[in-house]
Amino acid sequence: MCDRVRAPARGALIATPQSRSSAELVEANRRFYDALWTDARLIPPERFNTWPLARSLAAAAPRRLEVAPGLRPRLPLDGTQFADVSAPALAKLRACGASAVFGPITELPFADGAFDLVCALDIVEHVDDDERALSELARVSAAGAALLETRRPDLLYLSTSDYVQHKHAPGTPEANAFCAMLDRYLSRIDALGAVIALTADHGMSAKTDAAGRPQVVYLAGLIDGARVILPITDPYVVHHGALGSYATIYLPHGADPHAAAARIARERGVALVLHASEACDMFELPRDRVGDLVVISDADFVLGTAPELHDLSGLDAPLRSHGGLSEQTVPLIVNRPLALEAGRRFRNFDAFDLALNCVEESG
Ligand SMILES: [Zn+2]
Repeated sequence: MCDRVRAPARGALIATPQSRSSAELVEANRRFYDALWTDARLIPPERFNTWPLARSLAAAAPRRLEVAPGLRPRLPLDGTQFADVSAPALAKLRACGASAVFGPITELPFADGAFDLVCALDIVEHVDDDERALSELARVSAAGAALLETRRPDLLYLSTSDYVQHKHAPGTPEANAFCAMLDRYLSRIDALGAVIALTADHGMSAKTDAAGRPQVVYLAGLIDGARVILPITDPYVVHHGALGSYATIYLPHGADPHAAAARIARERGVALVLHASEACDMFELPRDRVGDLVVISDADFVLGTAPELHDLSGLDAPLRSHGGLSEQTVPLIVNRPLALEAGRRFRNFDAFDLALNCVEESG
């Protein structure tokens, strides 16, 4: 419930009270840093122990961005673009010859893929919406294509977060913009001659009723003493309130698993209740990480523990989530003809085998 409290770093600045909004946090940050930087001098990047690394990375990256440097920039002042929200810091950076513009990390004023190297130090922990911040950093960096252009590695594994997919349904302007951005990166990588295998962890479904309210089956209250484990329980409540479509349940000692399964199966929104052995066979799960029962929800429902254990306050868009059979089918795309054995069944992790072993030799 209190995962929005971030550990303060570099000066006791913010123990974020839960009640503070993102806008208030930005304002508090700006007030603190404006005062700090007004009375401070710029310390050049050569003075920090990050310099050997920063210098070598910068040498290979002609288009560089450092976000929120304040007066402690780590990349070379010459040739790097800086973005910060503090006016005194921006003025002093410019006075030292740096190119510095106003720009919050959650809304960077740069085009997709504009930079080969992006650096943000001591900043993400000060931001309320850290996923948005990381998504922005990824958006403006062309890391994959730039690495391919400068270093020619044999293998690159590139991944995105699923923030956009959680927040925006397919076909909306935001989702289309995200896909167009991926297309641009991929076509650049394709043009460089790389074999590309493209796939996904999982699909995504709207988990709401017609009015846009989340549809949740809370499992803990259904069976006395049951321990409900939700694999989606992670700090990113902004994405999904820790609500997904898969749960496993440890029953109390002596409980009848058949009676418990029958009780849960009666709930509206439950698609499937399986005994552990059945679930492990069906989904190739490791038995030591599965409880007595496995529950999967319908496409438009999610599973929760108990209402008081789910913080839905971070959900600023209708709930979209994953984890069920309804999100099991994903694309698996390779940009080359493949030599494949007949009747082969594909899973997403086959992306590696397809790209490395199955591409048809041309000519
Ligand atoms: Zn997710």
